[in-house]
Amino acid sequence: MIKFTDMSMGLSIAALLVCVTDLIFTIMDKRTGKPQNKFYILIMTLLGVSAAHGVISAPLDYIKMTSESAFETLEVTRYLYFLAHSFIAPVFFFYISYVTGRSINRNICWRYNRTAKNIFTDLLPQIILVLTVIIIASNPFHHWVWYYDVQRDFRRGFGEFLLVYAQSAVWMIASFVLLMRSWNILSKNRKNAIAFCYLLVVLGIVIQLIFKNIRIEVLMETLGFTGVLLFVENEDERKDVEIAVYNSAAFSLDISAAIKNKTPVKVIIVRDIEIDLSSVPFVSGQTDTVSLSRTVADLLAEKVERYYIYSIGHRTFALTLYNKSDDEALKTANEIYERFEKIWDINGSDVYLDSAVMLIDIPERAKDINDIIYISECPIPENAKKGVMRGDDLNWIVRYSAVEAAVTRGLAEGSFEVYYQPTYNIDKTLYGAEALLRMHDKELGNIYPDEFIPIAEKLGLIDEIDSFVLEEVCRLLATGEPQKYGVGHINVNLSVIECMKDGFIDHIMKIVDKSGAEKHNICFEITESAAAADYEYLAQVIDELKNAGFLFYIDDFGTGYSNISSLFSLGADIIKIDKSVLWGAQKDELGMVLLSGTISMVKGMRKKTLCEGVETIEQLDLLKELGCNYLQGYYFAKPLPEGVFLEHIKSVS
Ligand code: C2E
Ligand code: CA
Ligand code: CA
Repeated sequence: MIKFTDMSMGLSIAALLVCVTDLIFTIMDKRTGKPQNKFYILIMTLLGVSAAHGVISAPLDYIKMTSESAFETLEVTRYLYFLAHSFIAPVFFFYISYVTGRSINRNICWRYNRTAKNIFTDLLPQIILVLTVIIIASNPFHHWVWYYDVQRDFRRGFGEFLLVYAQSAVWMIASFVLLMRSWNILSKNRKNAIAFCYLLVVLGIVIQLIFKNIRIEVLMETLGFTGVLLFVENEDERKDVEIAVYNSAAFSLDISAAIKNKTPVKVIIVRDIEIDLSSVPFVSGQTDTVSLSRTVADLLAEKVERYYIYSIGHRTFALTLYNKSDDEALKTANEIYERFEKIWDINGSDVYLDSAVMLIDIPERAKDINDIIYISECPIPENAKKGVMRGDDLNWIVRYSAVEAAVTRGLAEGSFEVYYQPTYNIDKTLYGAEALLRMHDKELGNIYPDEFIPIAEKLGLIDEIDSFVLEEVCRLLATGEPQKYGVGHINVNLSVIECMKDGFIDHIMKIVDKSGAEKHNICFEITESAAAADYEYLAQVIDELKNAGFLFYIDDFGTGYSNISSLFSLGADIIKIDKSVLWGAQKDELGMVLLSGTISMVKGMRKKTLCEGVETIEQLDLLKELGCNYLQGYYFAKPLPEGVFLEHIKSVS
């Protein structure tokens, strides 16, 4: 007949072997760095000690009556067993809190809002644990937990139930709650492995409770944690094996965990890591992207622990920073940025690498993983400022790229609409109108030209957009409606980039001729600062336009620093005084001198003035007094959609 003690010994030996094997694999695979790893190793060690007790105690039990030293050894190992075993459940709780990312949150609470209540609830688990250890450790004095009777038979005290089973049950329930709260952020394999572990542990306890002599509990626990080793500790599915950092799936899960746990985290994105070709020696051969990424990952690993580094896309890394202040995070980001200014050794050749570094605060700047991915993929405009991009820089990039996308799809989707703002003679009768472009994007809503025109210029779409405006204006003029109510001409803003291009005049002529609009009803505006670019060439273009019959204004006068005589030699029909000059005149005396001086100078040059930005009757009176010829501004009308504009001019004519 099999003796229970023999069987228990066999089970203990098996448990011990499994523990040792798991520990060897853990160390061989270098899974020792993270706090999570350390807790795993601790669990396995504690299980190992429990199993070792099972192995040693079985033979000692036979001879304890006859051998004093055997009995003493038995007492000591029993003592170690209880200490070790009461630790397993709490360590498991801490382990789970790291796996689900909640312990990081706890640390942050500690650093940033230490209130008495917080400290107590934060420390409650530790307090319970310390009390338990004190009671078990002092068992030789009070024998609450266990004792040997006069026959040297092992007896359980009330403390065993309370401290070992009840305490463990509380920890297990607590870790279960923790797990359930973070269930969605665990990968499928992790969920299965943890569920399996729970099942075996509970089964082990139940069997042991029913069959008191079969000491199977430790073995079941050990097997459960072997499953955890295979699927939780083993992070193959989270790893980018080639670059030896985590992959984008791991990034997504870890960030989701931080957000779910309300853990503030900062993410540094390092992207567009490219070899600056000008720095590559003539025959450098092909530098493969893997060794490039590896070299960069190795550098990043000097700045943060490797397990906080993720390769999230082509030549893009993300680093997560927990428990770091703004200054500390910025310092790390700056160090990374500065490293890219220096030389790199890639496969033995010295090269420079380009890269952009961004620092994103979560949840302030990005509320979920999609936001981070969006920010990290936004094309960075050429005129973005140098250095680590963060805070408002990121808002700017995000907005810029959203507008870029909106402009790109704008023409095809019919997002553009031409508005008209009437201009007036000084006696308040209608004079002309200015065509001003508006954009209604289905995602971003209304966007104003000050924002989208510079972007359209960069994208090379301004030609098409300006052509669209001219076509619209010509179409309206061809109906004869505006002229009927006293609008002598409609002004079209010209982008200098466009009018300096070859074939510009032909292009304009084609549009106008096709439409049937009269050239003398069309007036082009060129800004003062733009005119300063190349007077000679511009003068030629303007001459041709004027000879063809078009009108021509200098726009935004008073904002640039032009060579005044060259500017006037351009032969503009009207000089448009910028609204800032008018508004400045109301602020101080110097502003007034500037406005009156500008108007009288233009008059002296025998040109006419149109002042924009007229919003009040006082401004109107002032301009009248100073001898300004024409007016434009909200006092009369804002830029209006075509239909409203036609109604308006009908009503005032
Ligand atoms: P701009 O040519 O100097 O146009 C005058 C700007 O002043 C317009 O702004 C107009 O709405 C605004 N404005 C007129 N009266 C008042 C007023 O009384 N008070 C205030 N606060 N503002 C007034 P908008 O339409 O936003 O245009 C901004 C700039 O965008 C224009 O400045 C022009 O440089 C450019 N732009 C607009 N439409 C086009 C276009 O079709 N093609 C090109 N290339 N540029 C355009
Ligand atoms: Ca204008
Ligand atoms: Ca203007």
